[in-house]
Amino acid sequence: MKLYLVIPCYNEQEVLGETAKRTAEKLRELAAVGKISSQSRICFVDDGSKDDTWKIIEELCSADEIYSGVKLSRNKGHQNALLAGLMSVKDECDAAISLDADLQDDIGAIDKMVDKYTEGCDVVYGVRSSRKTDKMFKRTTARCFYKMMRTMGVELVYDHADYRLMSKRALEALSEFDEVNLFLRGLVPLIGFKSDVVEYERNKRFAGKSKYPLKKMISFAFEGVTSMSIKPIRMISVLGFFIFLTSIGMLLYSLIRHFTGNTVEGWTSIVVSVWAIGGLQLLAIGVIGEYIGKIYLETKRRPKYVVDKLINLDKSGDKR
Ligand code: UDP
Ligand code: MG
Repeated sequence: MKLYLVIPCYNEQEVLGETAKRTAEKLRELAAVGKISSQSRICFVDDGSKDDTWKIIEELCSADEIYSGVKLSRNKGHQNALLAGLMSVKDECDAAISLDADLQDDIGAIDKMVDKYTEGCDVVYGVRSSRKTDKMFKRTTARCFYKMMRTMGVELVYDHADYRLMSKRALEALSEFDEVNLFLRGLVPLIGFKSDVVEYERNKRFAGKSKYPLKKMISFAFEGVTSMSIKPIRMISVLGFFIFLTSIGMLLYSLIRHFTGNTVEGWTSIVVSVWAIGGLQLLAIGVIGEYIGKIYLETKRRPKYVVDKLINLDKSGDKR
């Protein structure tokens, strides 16, 4: 079977050389034992890097046929870069594995993923066996992230990031998802098909800095919830209903106060309720606005990325 590794890279010049070397070694090793075809390749997606990333990719591609490259016209973010890569290789491979450029995803797990594929799985999720190598902060925020996603009604594979194998069939199915607000790890479980999990130990970043600062992590989580679930809207409706019930109680209460002649002292409760209601309304409008913003973007049907150049890949790549 022809396996493609898809590696999104954004300003990864420090790690790229090492990543390229190790992944190529892995593919050759697997090809030597006959697990995969010798036609298997590594596809780097340059997500509009500002450093020498694309230059390194070009050099790699001209030095060795095993490498191929996709250059996006500008930075589009990890998820879009990943999709661009997967869609560019889907017609050429039997299965593709997506992994990070920084060697955090242990490439030793590729063997097991390929085995699961051979056993008939269409999707194999790489799941972290522990979070020992994470800093305290990342560990806590990541745990909150998965908990929150669950309570918000998003179906996720726990502790699975974007290290996964997808068969050609699964990739075809993924290409049918036309949404602009991409949250791949929420979408892939929706595809269905037979899937399994492979555990791996996540390493420290090999070199360079994380491209996911706290700000991006928060917006990623927010994106995840609002593009996968309408539970927040429902929660607000429920809240609104209870506030309505409370206000009926308050009405009765104030009428009683009125007829017993104790009206002046009501100032505090009025001020408090004005603030409370005002705040809640703003919150509700904000959340609704968030979804309307999403609808706005979806209706525009903008391409999620534009491919600038392709090396060692025949197809010009889907533009979506
Ligand atoms: N990445 C990307 N575009 C971006 C940000 C990140 O393609 O705008 C890539 C990055 O090069 C890496 C992967 O996404 O291969 C994961 O990023 P990173 O390792 O910085 O995230 P972390 O592991 O810290 O969550
Ligand atoms: Mg990383």
